[in-house]
Amino acid sequence: GKADVECDVLVLGAGPGGYSAAFRAADLGLNVVLVERYATLGGVCLNVGCIPSKALLHTAAVIDEAKAMAAHGISFGEPKIDLDALRKFKDGVIGKLTGGLAAMAKMRKVTVLRGTGRFVGPNHLRVEGEKAQVVGFRNAIIAAGSQSVKLPFLPEDERIVDSTGALQLKAVPKKMLIVGGGIIGLEMGTVYSTLGARLDVVEMQDGLMPGADRDLVKVWQKMNAPRLDNIMLKTRTVSAEAREDGIWVGFEGEGAPKEAQRYDLVLQAVGRSPNGRKIDAEKAGVAVTDRGFIDVDGQMRTNVPHIFAIGDIVGQPMLAHKAVHEAHVAAEVAAGEKSWFDARVIPSVAYTDPEIAWVGLTEDEAKRQGVAVKKGLMPWSASGRAIANGRDEGFTKLLFDAKDGRILGGGIVGTHAGDLIGEVALAIEMGADSVDIGKTIHPHPTLGESIGLAAEAADGHCTDLP
Ligand code: FAD
Repeated sequence: GKADVECDVLVLGAGPGGYSAAFRAADLGLNVVLVERYATLGGVCLNVGCIPSKALLHTAAVIDEAKAMAAHGISFGEPKIDLDALRKFKDGVIGKLTGGLAAMAKMRKVTVLRGTGRFVGPNHLRVEGEKAQVVGFRNAIIAAGSQSVKLPFLPEDERIVDSTGALQLKAVPKKMLIVGGGIIGLEMGTVYSTLGARLDVVEMQDGLMPGADRDLVKVWQKMNAPRLDNIMLKTRTVSAEAREDGIWVGFEGEGAPKEAQRYDLVLQAVGRSPNGRKIDAEKAGVAVTDRGFIDVDGQMRTNVPHIFAIGDIVGQPMLAHKAVHEAHVAAEVAAGEKSWFDARVIPSVAYTDPEIAWVGLTEDEAKRQGVAVKKGLMPWSASGRAIANGRDEGFTKLLFDAKDGRILGGGIVGTHAGDLIGEVALAIEMGADSVDIGKTIHPHPTLGESIGLAAEAADGHCTDLP
């Protein structure tokens, strides 16, 4: 009755979850409305997350690699850095991708409504944009994502940024503090340090990159020691004062310096919180947890059967590739298919230098949980390709069930580790064992063959391909 637009499926939010859900639903013949408050499609990932960070990390990696060429007898001299041009390159990358999404939405006849959406009932959403519109829907898919957590005691100051601010790359600070030693903080730290900043990192846990095996992180940390002045572990920031000469930050904990420290730039990267409490979900009857997450079942349904939720808003891990797969399930179920989110594993990657990637059971978890594993280790110091690349600091590690030899997990540290880990994820999904992987002929000389060789090593075969 009271709707300006009617649709089969309303999708709220056009990040990797939202656009994937909208496209799949449209491909299945449903009439789709996609609501997004940003000017472009793509959400956090394309606009202020995965993609711009990787554009800058690639640039940083090339600068570092060019410097490392000195050891190969090739010198380029100091790089001349034009921040405006670099920013333009990064924005161009984003533009290509978000433009591509807009074209795909059009091709599929997905109606995109710009504006902020809030539920007004179990079958209606109000969009406040240039004009206010009410969308009536049969099914809804909530994909409203997350935003970075703000530490309450940090003052408003342009020298204190979150990842979005850091990606704007306004200037390169001399001295930078990274608050939170997780993936996002260390990726941005890598970019800024290659461009010339000195880094301090403060982390509440007892190690950087919580979640990854310590032996993987150790390799990264050794390579990156020259970038890092002070790593403060089991330490918290407790105060910050914006003065003319910088941001003065106070610390508490095991690694805390006694006096406040001065920084030109402070990056807060202490996690992300879901947007569940900002969409009036309760007006549609959808339950939201205190922290703003929306609980869903294996078909991505909320407590209201015709309303689904996907991506960062449904919980950890907050990763784009998880959002996309959940999106397809929600769209297919909305179209009447019997789909189910049934991933055994979701890979994690830190696109630092070297990269750190892991999937499935980690060795530290196996130890904590008392799982008996057979381990295969392939140090890249025995990989012809890694040596030829001048980057043999890494390793590939696979963990197999000690009982039946099936693969349970794997971790890789080294250049391109993120590109390699997909094979380990496939092996886990397929229930492969060490013989399956070891007898699969991998091309030589590649970094990928370290996966086959690690499987061979797990069965006691020594590797004979340098
Ligand atoms: P989002 O991408 O958050 O999209 C939600 C969308 O909903 C947004 O566009 C928002 O504007 C819109 N929205 C919210 N509320 C409303 C409303 N009421 N009305 C209208 N629109 C609304 N993940 C990876 O897998 N790999 C990476 O390398 C990676 N790097 C990252 C780097 C950074 C710096 C950051 C911050 C994140 C990174 N992530 C990465 C995480 C990744 O960006 C998220 O997991 C992913 O974007 C989640 O997708 P989503 O669809 O759930 O939500």
